[in-house]
Amino acid sequence: MNLLIIRLIIFAVLFLAGLKLYRIYREWKLEREELLEDDREGAGGNQMVRCAWCQVHVPESEAQRERGQWFCSSAHRDRYLQEQQEQEDRDGDDEPHS
Ligand SMILES: [Zn+2]
Repeated sequence: MNLLIIRLIIFAVLFLAGLKLYRIYREWKLEREELLEDDREGAGGNQMVRCAWCQVHVPESEAQRERGQWFCSSAHRDRYLQEQQEQEDRDGDDEPHS
């Protein structure tokens, strides 16, 4: 009977120790991920992107994003989208080239 209680205690201690280690590991991992994210934000904040309309480079924070393209202003975005739309309309008349 004594042996069973000792086994139970050992099992409980191991279980709690494992749980504690797991929590420490999780916290450590979260901290690392936050640090990595900060690095990415710091590097990405001043990245230069190219306007798809006039090819001028502008900071990402000032650029406008639409359909996976970057634009220096909403005017250029509108002109680009307008041209895209006209192209799509023209393509619609022809048979698709494959
Ligand atoms: Zn532009």
